[in-house]
Amino acid sequence: MHIVSKLPQVGTTIFTIMSQLAQQHHAINLGQGFPDFMMDEALIDLIQKAMTDGCNQYTHTNGLPALRNALAEKVKKLYNTSIHPETQITITPGGTYAIYTALTSFLYSGDEVIVFEPAYDSYVPNIVLNGAKPVFIALQYPDYSIPWHEVAQKINSKTKAIIINSPHNPTGAVLSEQDIMTLRTLVAKTNIMIVSDEVYEHLIFDAIPHQSLLRYPDLLERSFIIFSFGKTYHCTGWKLGYCIAAAPLMQEFRKVHQFNCFSCDTPKQYALATYLQEEDKYVQLGAQIQKKRDFFRTLMQQTGFVCIPSHGSYFECYSYAALSNKSDTEFAVELVQKAGVATIPVSAFYHHKTDEKVLRFCFAKKEETLLEAAERFKHL
Ligand code: PMP
Ligand code: GLN
Repeated sequence: MHIVSKLPQVGTTIFTIMSQLAQQHHAINLGQGFPDFMMDEALIDLIQKAMTDGCNQYTHTNGLPALRNALAEKVKKLYNTSIHPETQITITPGGTYAIYTALTSFLYSGDEVIVFEPAYDSYVPNIVLNGAKPVFIALQYPDYSIPWHEVAQKINSKTKAIIINSPHNPTGAVLSEQDIMTLRTLVAKTNIMIVSDEVYEHLIFDAIPHQSLLRYPDLLERSFIIFSFGKTYHCTGWKLGYCIAAAPLMQEFRKVHQFNCFSCDTPKQYALATYLQEEDKYVQLGAQIQKKRDFFRTLMQQTGFVCIPSHGSYFECYSYAALSNKSDTEFAVELVQKAGVATIPVSAFYHHKTDEKVLRFCFAKKEETLLEAAERFKHL
């Protein structure tokens, strides 16, 4: 049997490739974005309690009501926006799934979607699977800011959506209030939708406020806003997230969701509904992870890598132009084999594999892991 591939250009994701390579070579894995430190055991205890209390059957298709209520309260506190938990929030098996579901709920063949590169690697295949066309705009190296004049030029009658991601993977760039003002003006008199990937909502540094689209009612009415519990609570393997959107948009999202996943892990939703009451756990997160970024940055100053400052996410990018002329993919493979450290070559996030000689490092690791990695880089 043979099927005509719907994704002929797609191979295995760079995250799987680099993690496998890291395993083969027993390397330190600063590639794929996951912490190597323990998540809060209090949250694990809450799941155990939910399971022994018998909360083990399907829950509501849109998510446990108590969890959606807790999220609506959190949104009110953080962004002063009232979200209706019954009609505007859906719990999903991770942020990646929510992005796919959002795009699938409104894209038609021939639609165009503006994507900024480097881009998280699921966006483009999700667009293509829906018969739509990605329209690429390169972020401006080295600060990875959005060239808004180019966005204005590329908007046309086929433009169905724009995907934004702040804090940004892979670069750690964050959108400013000015960026959001420009976006508002550009879409104001159009029917353009926005998918706003905010999975790193709380992983934001240097006292910069997160410009969630939840702050802007005119943008919220045209947006699907995506979050991930895995990122916020250092449990990426949980694959649990949520989407917030205006009620008419969410209605369509749920039509796709109910026949794809139907409902998500019940005990974890009970645990999170309780755990979300502890505001400190998410409010202090940025400062905690910033310490790791700063620690890693100081260590990297003693190597030949040059920092491209990150202001959010689990990642910081570094130029290795002073160390090698090799392509970023070749250099990343060499680093695993010779230095025993895995990273992610940033060209993997561009459709034309643009190579600025930059690697992405995940610093959401124990200090000892970061120390050992930096030690290995000294000998390059
Ligand atoms: N968007 C971005 C930018 C990410 O880095 C991730 C992390 N994998 C996701 C979405 C998806 O998160 P999840 O693991 O909850 O699917
Ligand atoms: N978000 C993580 C990263 O960028 C991993 C995502 C994945 O494994 N698909 O590294």
